[in-house]
Amino acid sequence: MKRKNFFIVTIIISVIIFTSISVLAISDDSKCKENDKIVYLTFDDGPTETTLEVLKILDEENIKATFFVIGKLVEENPNILKEIKEKNHSICAHTYTHNDSNYVSADVYFNDYEKVKNVLNENLNKKNYEFMRMPGGSSTGIPQKSTLKQIRDGLISRGLYYVDWNISIEDAMGINIPVEQLICNYSKAMNSKNLDKSRIIILMHDGASNKTTPKALGTIIKSLKEQGYEFKSLDMVDEKEREILIEKKLINRYN
Ligand SMILES: [Zn+2]
Repeated sequence: MKRKNFFIVTIIISVIIFTSISVLAISDDSKCKENDKIVYLTFDDGPTETTLEVLKILDEENIKATFFVIGKLVEENPNILKEIKEKNHSICAHTYTHNDSNYVSADVYFNDYEKVKNVLNENLNKKNYEFMRMPGGSSTGIPQKSTLKQIRDGLISRGLYYVDWNISIEDAMGINIPVEQLICNYSKAMNSKNLDKSRIIILMHDGASNKTTPKALGTIIKSLKEQGYEFKSLDMVDEKEREILIEKKLINRYN
């Protein structure tokens, strides 16, 4: 009898240990997946005809991206904005005019920002644009350092999150830059030694002088898919993910 009891107890303990290990393994695995590699494709300076070409590729690849728009162009191309919205991509504020002179003072800057916000309010139901991108990024050399700091602080005090990037395909460094050059810029940036590859925000442009960007996009997406990246738009960012992006200095870099 005793021997039989010992045998049963041994089996029960073994089952418990095996189950615990399996549960741990599963939860560890799911944890890994949750923190897996995520990429955010972002497009600045639209909406234009180029945007439509970008949307086609994103559709084919079944990917959601983020568009930082220019208010003036939204007024000129409301139907293109509508198409971005209908395809459930994220739409965020960039600027109303994209003039360098907006950086002359914080007052002038926020006057421009209010304008793009109003244009978006008129064209979309979304009232809260928590993510935005400063023209030239949060480190832009256009304004004086003290003005730049005032602007960044002003954005934070308005409850906004300014979004930078850690990969640029440098498609705004000229007009319709050759596709091969854009892909080369992407590869070079991706292979940079200091890059934290767990979160990638890619800066691209869908302006009128970025006609080659949609042509490079397919190759870039293919490369990211091969590397196992999950594609997200900024509308898909929850509080936890937002904290990760802040910690990695991709959002609110200086605050
Ligand atoms: Zn821009």
